[in-house]
Amino acid sequence: MIDLKKYEFWFIVGSQDLYGDETLKQAADNARIMAGELADDPVLPGTLVLKPVAVTPQMIRKLFAEANACENCAGIITWMHTFSPSKMWIQGLAANSKPILHLHTQFNRDIPWDSIDMDFMNLNQSAHGDREHGYIYTRMRLPRKVVAGHWQEGEVRRRIGVWMRAAAAALDGKNAVVLRLGDNMREVAVTEGDKVEAQIRFGWQVNTWGIGDLAAAFAGISDGEAEKLLGEYAEKYDLAAEVKLPGPARQAAREQAKIEIALKAMLEREGAGAFTTTFQDLHGLPQLPGLASQRLMEQGYGFGAEGDWKQSMLVRAAKIMASGLSGGVSFMEDYTYHFEPGKEAALGAHMLEVCPTIAGQKPRLEVHPLGIGGKAPPARLVFDAAPGRAVLATIVDLGDRMRMVVNDVEAVKIERAMPKLPVARALWKPYPNLRDAAESWILCGGAHHSVYAAALTAEYFRDWAEMMNIEFIHIGKDTNPARLQDELRWADAYWSGR
Ligand code: MN
Repeated sequence: MIDLKKYEFWFIVGSQDLYGDETLKQAADNARIMAGELADDPVLPGTLVLKPVAVTPQMIRKLFAEANACENCAGIITWMHTFSPSKMWIQGLAANSKPILHLHTQFNRDIPWDSIDMDFMNLNQSAHGDREHGYIYTRMRLPRKVVAGHWQEGEVRRRIGVWMRAAAAALDGKNAVVLRLGDNMREVAVTEGDKVEAQIRFGWQVNTWGIGDLAAAFAGISDGEAEKLLGEYAEKYDLAAEVKLPGPARQAAREQAKIEIALKAMLEREGAGAFTTTFQDLHGLPQLPGLASQRLMEQGYGFGAEGDWKQSMLVRAAKIMASGLSGGVSFMEDYTYHFEPGKEAALGAHMLEVCPTIAGQKPRLEVHPLGIGGKAPPARLVFDAAPGRAVLATIVDLGDRMRMVVNDVEAVKIERAMPKLPVARALWKPYPNLRDAAESWILCGGAHHSVYAAALTAEYFRDWAEMMNIEFIHIGKDTNPARLQDELRWADAYWSGR
């Protein structure tokens, strides 16, 4: 599990020095009570840090400068307890580099009907102060999330928590590396993209290492080390009978264990949070890294097959967002459809590399031949994804911008055994229905590769996309492909020149 407590979120409460010490002291006391309660709520996974009530332009500018310089600060929550003239905020906001959540709330839930007077009105005027505050973000065209409602409401806190998780993923990306082993699969278009733009936009450093480096490290891992890891596999997964006994299947599993050990060391050495492989470049490795990729995804690394660094990066971001939540996150690929009327569904899988965190039962470690890649039969974990709500998310490079597409889906139980398909797989019904979802996804230029996230909803990806300032398209129960096609054309006008 990735620790989200290391991410700080600064809570900046706004006011002005017009009101006198007593009002400002009351505002500071109220902010302390709120920050204390919010910090104790596990729905907010980061560390909430209360800052002094902001009352002058100098103070505001200084607070934002300090936040920019704070390596662990993942985001800033602003809330105007009183009126806080927004021209005071311009310098601070213009320099700000952190994601913003504008919390539109007030300290008291109810109007104190019997005692309310003009002093109370002046102290508790968020309804008025937050409108002034919201204006300046809109005027400056600044991305942010606005969350309105009383701060003790569960829904308000849940939405702050979602944003915190997205912000943690955004900060992780600022210092992260996608370690590519080999290039993209030859001739494939959608897995290509502008790596310079990705670094400017997401922070990700997308670079290539030779597969020979991994092969050399693999060759240096002893059988003993690999056997020790096989012991861990035996505790977590069901091992097929032939994998338990000495022989070629055991040998294949041991080779995957060696790839896992060697690749993990390489990722740690390079500070990489994500990696890609390609079956077209495996020189020196006996098998496609199947089980090894599944295992590393399970440990929180991003993964993309066929050199797909965009989806690898997004798997990693989703792993951070989902840390500690139930349900899993995996690399995924739309594979084949079931068009039986009334039971329309999509079957997702990959050659091998699906993360066991989405499994509905204990995964089974098996070894089977793989027709593609021309290597030895690879070990892999086989399972069905757990039924329930999930989303598919992808990023494509349109040349002038990155577009994220997210589709709500409902994973369903796989009723038939499929004995000749020994790979991990998921069967889902997309929203609003298979036909409209597929038409919409294809109109968006959405990739065949995606992130499958049972732990997350579209809101997480929307918040993350807002922080990255990239286009976000949500295909859900209300999506109409014809209307979406119009919206995509309007979006071309919006994004041109940005
Ligand atoms: Mn693929």
